[in-house]
Amino acid sequence: MMRMILFGPPGAGKGTYASRLSTVLGIPHISTGDIVREEIKAHTQLGEKIRAYSEKGELVPDDIILELLKRRLNKPDCEEGFILDGFPRTISQAEALDQIFNLNLVINLNVSDKIVMQRLSNRLICDTCGAIYNKLTLKPREESVCDKCGGRLSQRKDDAPDVIQERLDIYRRRTKPLIIHYTNKGVLRNVFCEDLMIPPESVVDEIRSIVDHVRNATCL
Ligand code: AMP
Repeated sequence: MMRMILFGPPGAGKGTYASRLSTVLGIPHISTGDIVREEIKAHTQLGEKIRAYSEKGELVPDDIILELLKRRLNKPDCEEGFILDGFPRTISQAEALDQIFNLNLVINLNVSDKIVMQRLSNRLICDTCGAIYNKLTLKPREESVCDKCGGRLSQRKDDAPDVIQERLDIYRRRTKPLIIHYTNKGVLRNVFCEDLMIPPESVVDEIRSIVDHVRNATCL
């Protein structure tokens, strides 16, 4: 059992590392941002309600995001654990999660603002499968085409410079305080990624060894 969170500012690499970790650990990667984007793409009633928040870089209201997350966590593939990416983002979301699960591990990705800006302004995402690329550091084999599914790559609307700034402000004000919440619970471990060109695999290896250590220490 491994119920873990990848925590950090937008652009810390949460999605990139979580999708790779999901493969090596055999537990699903659950990104609330991906769930939000899928809901919007499918033009559901809920999708229409949350579109404006997402495009402006604002947080979707807690009750909606919790409902979407619970729906996903109830699926059978989450029985052996999961990797959360992008949730929780507020103290009340963290408290709601505490009511449902005991978490085993929170990885806090420490990345400077400079790297975050470089990452987000060069990020590309596959319109079809959501895979993440970067124009500088993680280029697709063929320009604008997803290596995994052949889908078209584009920039996220919320990766525009003014929206990035808003998302970083929200992170600092509403999400960063969760570091104290999880430190107090004794589940937080820090990982430092201060080099833009560091290959994702080396960060993933570091996180994996922390996971092994926590598993051995707690006989999970
Ligand atoms: P992300 O891909 O994690 O950067 O999320 C993209 C957008 O989805 C965010 O800017 C929010 O509008 C919304 N979103 C994702 N996760 C959450 C969350 N836990 N709480 C509120 N809004 C969220």
